[in-house]
Amino acid sequence: MFGAVVVGLGIAGSVRIRDMLAPLPGSAAEKLLVKGFISRRALGPQQGVQQVSVEDALSRDDINVAFICTENESHEENVRQFIEAGKHVCVEYPMTLSYKAAVDLWVLAEEKGIILHEEHIELFTADFKWLKEKVQGQNLQEGTLHFTGGSLKPRFGFLAFSGIARLTWFVDLFGELTVSSAAFEENPGNSYSKMTAKLLTADNRPLTWIEERGPGLPRAKNINFRFDSFTLTEVPPPASRGAVGLFMQDLVNFGAKLSGQVPPEEMQREKRRILHCLSLAQRIQDLCQQ
Ligand code: NAD
Repeated sequence: MFGAVVVGLGIAGSVRIRDMLAPLPGSAAEKLLVKGFISRRALGPQQGVQQVSVEDALSRDDINVAFICTENESHEENVRQFIEAGKHVCVEYPMTLSYKAAVDLWVLAEEKGIILHEEHIELFTADFKWLKEKVQGQNLQEGTLHFTGGSLKPRFGFLAFSGIARLTWFVDLFGELTVSSAAFEENPGNSYSKMTAKLLTADNRPLTWIEERGPGLPRAKNINFRFDSFTLTEVPPPASRGAVGLFMQDLVNFGAKLSGQVPPEEMQREKRRILHCLSLAQRIQDLCQQ
């Protein structure tokens, strides 16, 4: 069994506690036992779980795993602290707000022989699974993914990093990419921001990623993918919600890694995809801020 601490008790952190208290029966998620949570606020027990101090969590022998569920800006520091203490880490995406920091953390994790896992629930969604099936074996001509959502919360970083889930969709669907251009506009007065990144697939097919956030914008993904023989402009609503929640699926995956059930080649593939996406996010940010 792996004793776990949850750092940051917002939406994601609370779901992590809930899922560990009722893991999917018969799955590797049962290997995780929540021992406490860390918050900057002094809180009473949450869902029956006690608050612990950072010092306790880092030094206790019965705590072997940390879930980093804080705002994106503090991921890097939190992840480093727990890796240095020899604890396995599951961090909600994005792992860091810079490519270099992610590479450094991965080197550190490998030196320490611990598991570093970045959550990517977007790859478990019905939308993504539907798209993946449609795209399989097709010849892309060009594509656009336009994400809209409410204003970005403070401390969540630049759009290319906070929206890494969209980039991960692109890379998982179309392979490794290069960035050809990127532009950014904002109106800080009303918390509006928009990023437009132009990317190219390995066979030079253009992809456009637009991340647009502002007050009142609906949370939506608009797609337009043109293939040789058809065009996809929308993802149909799923027939039913999956029986197993998205964060639970991620927990099962992380539990399987901790238990040595995931082949090393698969872990390496995942690491490569994650670092590739973070390197694209870095390039886009650099171009936007030039
Ligand atoms: P949130 O704002 O609801 O929660 C963040 C929490 O972390 C807050 O309660 C804050 O007080 C706490 N916190 C910040 N710094 C801390 C520190 N040093 N020590 C202890 N607590 C600290 O945000 P959220 O939606 O839960 O997102 C958290 C992370 O999960 C983000 O990285 C986000 O990208 C990722 N994520 C969230 C979702 C989701 O559905 N909410 C989905 C995928 C990924």
